[in-house]
Amino acid sequence: MRLLLVEDDSMIGEAVLDLLRAEHYAVDWVRDGEMADTALRTQDYDLVLLDLGLPRRDGLDVLRALRARRQRVPVLIATARDAVQQRIEGLDAGADDYVLKPYDLHELLARLRALLRRAAGRAEPVYEHQGICINPATREVTAQGQPVQLSAREWAVLEPLLARPGLVLSRAQLEEKLYGWKDEISSNAVEVYIHGLRRKLGPGLIQNVRGVGYMVPKAGP
Ligand code: CA
Repeated sequence: MRLLLVEDDSMIGEAVLDLLRAEHYAVDWVRDGEMADTALRTQDYDLVLLDLGLPRRDGLDVLRALRARRQRVPVLIATARDAVQQRIEGLDAGADDYVLKPYDLHELLARLRALLRRAAGRAEPVYEHQGICINPATREVTAQGQPVQLSAREWAVLEPLLARPGLVLSRAQLEEKLYGWKDEISSNAVEVYIHGLRRKLGPGLIQNVRGVGYMVPKAGP
């Protein structure tokens, strides 16, 4: 999953960036409203964590412009504990949820997971498909009830595919979920992780869609 972190405070930004990366999210971090707007116009994100008090352009303004472009990416706004009016304005401007600053980091992660789950059209916290079960909160994976160890990047490839069976994701789309701006990308990385996933979870789970990308089929193979 690829996230945009919009935060002008360096210390907070670094702490949240470290946390999100440790949770295997690919993260781009911008520090003002103009850069946030540019990033949102040019990249696809699975979620935006948006501080509202920003230099150059206010977070609410960035949010309104995003929704005016009809971009549906989930947005979690960050506001001060006593800023009730700002939270109301943010939610009414198209934010999906809010988190209070200073952050409780565990709560922040749980809210991210909840929004990502809803964005994938799911309510249940654990995904089960074709005998493969994944839990985004604990990162536990089982195949036919047996625990399976995945690397962080194998997880990052599997989760979006398993979250929406029948949806084809291109190699480029999967790469976007693996890497932030500053990461090195090797040209066959996605193929390597798909290969590892097939070895661990069975050859039939992830299918190639010739010339388009990869998917987990809705029905069994
Ligand atoms: Ca701020």
